[in-house]
Amino acid sequence: MKNCTSLTSLSSMDKDLSLNSLTQYGRAAAMQRSSVSNPPSARQASETGEDHLPRQVRPYQDLSEKGNAAPTLVKKKRRRGRERITANLSGTRYEVVRQMVEKMGFSVAKDDDPTSYLIWNDCFVSPDKISELKPYQRINHFPGMGEVTRKDALARNYLKMQKALPEEYNFMPRTWILPADYSLLLNHAKEMKMKKKTKTFIVKPSNGAQGHGISLYRNAEKIPQTENFIVQEYVDKPLLLDGFKFDLRIYVLITSCDPLRIFLFNDGLVRLATEKYLPPHESNVNHLYMHLTNYSVNKHNEYYEKNMTIDTGSKRSIRYFNEYLRRSDIDVAMLWRNIADMIVRTLLVAEPHVLHAYRMCRPGVPSGSDSVCFEVLGFDIMIDRKLRPWLLEINRSPSFGTDERLDFEIKSSLIEDSFKLLNIKVSDKRRNIAAQKAEAQRRLFRTNRKTDTQDVTALDKKKASMDKRKEELKDLLARVRKMALREDFEIRNCGRFKRIFPSDDRMRQDRYCKIMSSAFSVFLAGRGTSMQREIQVNYNNKYKEEQLLDMIAECEADERDSKLYPGGKPPRGPKPLQSMPESLPSATANNYYEDEEEVEYDSDGSPPGSLSRHQQHVRHRSASGSRSRAHSRMSAESGGAGERASSSHSRPGSGLTLNSVNRIGGPRPLSQSTLNGVPGGGGHRSRSVTRAATTNKLTALQRSNVDDNFLNSMVKEREEELTKKTLISLNEMRIKFPGKSDIEAEYLLDQLHENWKFHKPRIASYWLVKLDSIKRRKVVDIVRSNVRAMLQRIWRSSDIDNLRLYRIFSRVFNRLLWSHGQGLWNCFSPTSNTWETIFSKSSENISEPEMDCCRRIVQLCKDCLLIVYKFADEAKNPTSQVGGEQQQHQTGSDKVQTFQPQQTTIPPPFENKQAQNGYLAGRDLRPPVNWNPHTSYSQRYARIYQQSNLSGS
Ligand code: ADP
Repeated sequence: MKNCTSLTSLSSMDKDLSLNSLTQYGRAAAMQRSSVSNPPSARQASETGEDHLPRQVRPYQDLSEKGNAAPTLVKKKRRRGRERITANLSGTRYEVVRQMVEKMGFSVAKDDDPTSYLIWNDCFVSPDKISELKPYQRINHFPGMGEVTRKDALARNYLKMQKALPEEYNFMPRTWILPADYSLLLNHAKEMKMKKKTKTFIVKPSNGAQGHGISLYRNAEKIPQTENFIVQEYVDKPLLLDGFKFDLRIYVLITSCDPLRIFLFNDGLVRLATEKYLPPHESNVNHLYMHLTNYSVNKHNEYYEKNMTIDTGSKRSIRYFNEYLRRSDIDVAMLWRNIADMIVRTLLVAEPHVLHAYRMCRPGVPSGSDSVCFEVLGFDIMIDRKLRPWLLEINRSPSFGTDERLDFEIKSSLIEDSFKLLNIKVSDKRRNIAAQKAEAQRRLFRTNRKTDTQDVTALDKKKASMDKRKEELKDLLARVRKMALREDFEIRNCGRFKRIFPSDDRMRQDRYCKIMSSAFSVFLAGRGTSMQREIQVNYNNKYKEEQLLDMIAECEADERDSKLYPGGKPPRGPKPLQSMPESLPSATANNYYEDEEEVEYDSDGSPPGSLSRHQQHVRHRSASGSRSRAHSRMSAESGGAGERASSSHSRPGSGLTLNSVNRIGGPRPLSQSTLNGVPGGGGHRSRSVTRAATTNKLTALQRSNVDDNFLNSMVKEREEELTKKTLISLNEMRIKFPGKSDIEAEYLLDQLHENWKFHKPRIASYWLVKLDSIKRRKVVDIVRSNVRAMLQRIWRSSDIDNLRLYRIFSRVFNRLLWSHGQGLWNCFSPTSNTWETIFSKSSENISEPEMDCCRRIVQLCKDCLLIVYKFADEAKNPTSQVGGEQQQHQTGSDKVQTFQPQQTTIPPPFENKQAQNGYLAGRDLRPPVNWNPHTSYSQRYARIYQQSNLSGS
């Protein structure tokens, strides 16, 4: 068996075709559209050839016939000057998308308009672009979806889930990823041979599409050990239609990943091969038209038949297929239940990746907010003779070409129904602007929750804790109500879609929740616990509105009791907090400094209801900064920015709050320096304008007196000052090698740089090949979590996700992970600073100090990669330690322990949170003792030290 040459020739033809794919239906529609703005005379129409088209192949006319005269609507609306929903379609070549945009009454924006409500791109969208979107915008791709749409990534992730849940993950043909699994493949083939079973294998390029480069092998030993291929067992007993092999193109819409909402379209395409099927044999394995069902392959066969009637042609509808099965007495409902179930299980594999990537792009966005991303996926599924569905692959940019009428009918209603489910409203933009303004003011008037320990009585703490619990319940209530509204909207607007996740079937949904929990444990091990809580709230919500109202009432009763009996019984409040979500991503994973008193929830999730428990956990950050787990973020999740500010501080009518706690020590007057944003001296923390006002009374006064512009300029000034402080702190940070001193770590880095030629290919292979996306992210997260902690300290806020500076940093972090880690790897090239282009193309102005911060972050990530690489390398080969380190290890017994080689492919830091946190530490500004200005490392830091000293003085 060998590769088929015909395949290669086909692929080049396909390329041309796909580039040029203004298809027949698309072209017809384009002509129609231009004729709309410029009404054609009869002669013009005949010149364009439109009148030769059969009536039913004129999509635009079809629309008018349905009474939706989009063009007239456009004109009327424009005249009235009303705002309209705009769509940027510069990234798509499909006419049907444009037509449906117009049918919905949206207007097509200019190509360079980045502010459109809807953005449709045929190809991959970078995380940067998603980060830049405003909350009212929608784009048709999710970040992280490549983890199931690239063939090799899907296989890898699927195999991991199969290991964890073999009984759930049994719907893909057995797969090997070459070259890593080559010997496993050969062993399997040998086993089969011994059992006298001859298997056929199908070999596909990892990132291929449209049947390019696919070949069949009867003998596994002849499969070349080439890189970037996947090999699958060939499903050799497919269900046939009129004697032909076929596969199903099934469309799935995801409207949100936080929480996950999946919809299955109730139609799609059946794509038939064009040569009658015979079981694979040496004599026919090269017959592509027999074994491959791709339209892009079979359209080149002279026997390819266009679909003219419902039951003929090489492409048919799934509706027809269902009818066909019914006629053969097949339980169609059961088949589709199985297919839907398989789709959900596949997307549960994607969810941890997508959710993580999405939250990285949209830091600070509460769970349950309108998603800026949606995605229409094309699932390719084969059915075997036993009616068992097999997943072949998932396309993240399924073709919306409309070569045939059938294509147009299915794809147009698919797109239209998708738009309807997105629920885009003109008012979204206005609301967004108002929210931004509120956020700016909130930051200006952020109150300080910091209190002195001696000022806080046990009673106050208890009340603050009860208050918080009530807030959380209210947030949960708001969430439950929002979810109910969403469900109601979906039911009324789903068109031909059916929601398959969350499932209405209680038992099925419970099962999905378990699978999702496993997926989070498999892929985001560190976040397992917090994700369990989110899953409970988002998908398995036991709380009904009435229950929550009861719980709030109960809470208020407790509050009254404790007022009456200050030292009395512990509140008998509800215990819902173990299921509180932590929707802000880093809060779930990162230990970070809290600049305020903090309640730590036990891992058993007990509510901080009792005084003694609360007392045990109240901590204050020491000068060096004690680490404490972020407390529940419910208050941050529920509402807009303004709500968050008030919920974490003082709520009118809610009894004693933290402000009243402050008052116990006597009210603190707001100093002039506070108002001007001048940091206080004498070792005291500055009570800045950004967060300084200590009583709500005063801030209310200010609010009424100071005008918006003035406030904004104050905010800006203060932000600039804090950005400079951030830069100083970043410059002080060093990557720490667990168990080694800073000097040793620097020495290591020096060694790596001095022997760069030797290390470069090894580091490249470690970073780009050996680490998968999750582990790469974890390396970057080492820097990220420390930067977060530092920002919280400097900006005196636990809600740093909403900081402009942190959003900028997020874009840098995303960029470094871009293209499977290529982003960071490019930064090692001496001339390359390609990451900076993310800002050059952005509408946002990045100041020089902000840019310097980003540069420093890139440097830290580079150092971090080198240290992690070195750590993993030493763990694997203890003899590879450089120079005198060996000796060091032998003299310090602690260090020897830290460096016990670990026989694991996962770099040890990922397994141990403490070790992870130990990678990065702040350091004082003095150069290291063994400072040698001539070494490359020292040179690299010379500028930073100078800068730090300058800015510090
Ligand atoms: P591409 O993305 O290049 O279209 P697919 O994985 O969809 O790659 O495979 C192309 C075609 O090959 C499918 O439409 C199907 O007909 C056939 N095929 C793929 N994998 C298998 C398999 N494991 N068993 C049988 N046929 C397969």
